[in-house]
Amino acid sequence: MTAMQFSSTRNPALVAGFAEALEKGLAPDGGLYIPSEWPAFASEQLTGQSGAEAARTSAGALAKLAVSMLKPFAAGDRLEPHLPAVAAEAMSFDAPLVPLDSPGRLSVLELFHGPTAAFKDFGARFLAASLARLRAPDAPALTILVATSGDTGGAVAAAFHERPGIEVAVLYPKGLVTPTQERQLTCWGGNVRSFAVRGTFDECQRMVKEAMLDRELRERRALSSANSINLGRLLPQAVYFGAASLAIRQAYGEPASFVIPAGNLGNALACIWARKLGLPIADIVLAHNANRVVPDFLRTGAWQPRPSVATLASAMDVGNPSNLERLRALYPQIDQLRGAVAADTVDDEQIRERIRTDFRRFGRVWCPHTATAAEVYGRLPLERRSTGRWVLVATAHPAKFREIVEPLIGRAVSMPDSLARLFERPVFCTEIAPTLDALRSALA
Ligand SMILES: *Cc1c(COP(=O)(O)O)cnc(C)c1O
Repeated sequence: MTAMQFSSTRNPALVAGFAEALEKGLAPDGGLYIPSEWPAFASEQLTGQSGAEAARTSAGALAKLAVSMLKPFAAGDRLEPHLPAVAAEAMSFDAPLVPLDSPGRLSVLELFHGPTAAFKDFGARFLAASLARLRAPDAPALTILVATSGDTGGAVAAAFHERPGIEVAVLYPKGLVTPTQERQLTCWGGNVRSFAVRGTFDECQRMVKEAMLDRELRERRALSSANSINLGRLLPQAVYFGAASLAIRQAYGEPASFVIPAGNLGNALACIWARKLGLPIADIVLAHNANRVVPDFLRTGAWQPRPSVATLASAMDVGNPSNLERLRALYPQIDQLRGAVAADTVDDEQIRERIRTDFRRFGRVWCPHTATAAEVYGRLPLERRSTGRWVLVATAHPAKFREIVEPLIGRAVSMPDSLARLFERPVFCTEIAPTLDALRSALA
């Protein structure tokens, strides 16, 4: 098979193979990599003879499905021989699909059983496992820079921790992440360094971008970034949507519809890509917090990015989602886009109320992000809810946001073991000013 190419959203002629796209992150013209063609599977082909096996969302089943779903993209590429090992390493925890009602109309897909208790563990671990294998043994040490408003930095630090030849620098806004999140950003040590920046998340992001372009820094070390526009974080996320949809079809003979908490649109796009690949997925509904640029765009047809506003679902506080560029590449006309996804917006008071109500109704505790999806699902017309097979995507464990959640439900949220272990580790961090100079000397 010839190697499949990925092209820039801004220029179809600017192509790269899978490994190259992972290493570069961003296309040289500033565009994002997208598949230049789509290997359509019949979903029977993915389920194969072992239908029951593919239709499970346990770690082992996810790793196997990852190989079948991603193989066409890696065929003939440097990454191809490593794919089974990378998939096994990245998908080493379950994504349970838990029914919430007895007719099986509503389930929750729990994506928070990884080391840092958010879905970003899947993508971060896939990228780390790939980059570790793609590096030549004698290559100079690679420094991964990551700016984070909370969840990304922890997932990336955990995924790259103790990998030889790779260092990580995490930049987060001092005082603007929850104490639980701060723990996960600062508890690593070794090859991970954490910087509490006296500034905002936007300033952290600007410092990373400036560093990536800085001649002096680049001369001293190889720099890369691990933000969510990297294909190596995005593509593996299609796998759990595939597995969940196959499990729903196996159980009920019908396709699955998903409600997805959305910020930068990486998770949502992975679901759209899974459907594009032929997985049995019907409707895809995006749940945004008060940062409502995407719902507004679908309604008005006019794209108007805005500065982000702070909400309870902070990992979705995005005013200009980068993956919209990929979405528009797939659906250039607004009517095509409206046919492909729906989107709605949820404010903080509605998040609070939904956490309280669903705790009473289902005995389930949502993180603020998952609560946006539960709220958007609750607003769907009864007719759609009672005919579809709906899946709420739970993006983080509520314990990560216990400072917000516990007062609402009036009791303590128990910590998953993986998070509890992080709390036993000593913390390390260096405070720096929000400037490139400060980052340069801190890295020296
Ligand atoms: C990052 C994140 C999101 C948003 O995902 P995107 O891929 O950026 O749309 C939602 N929930 C949680 C818990 C997250 O960490």
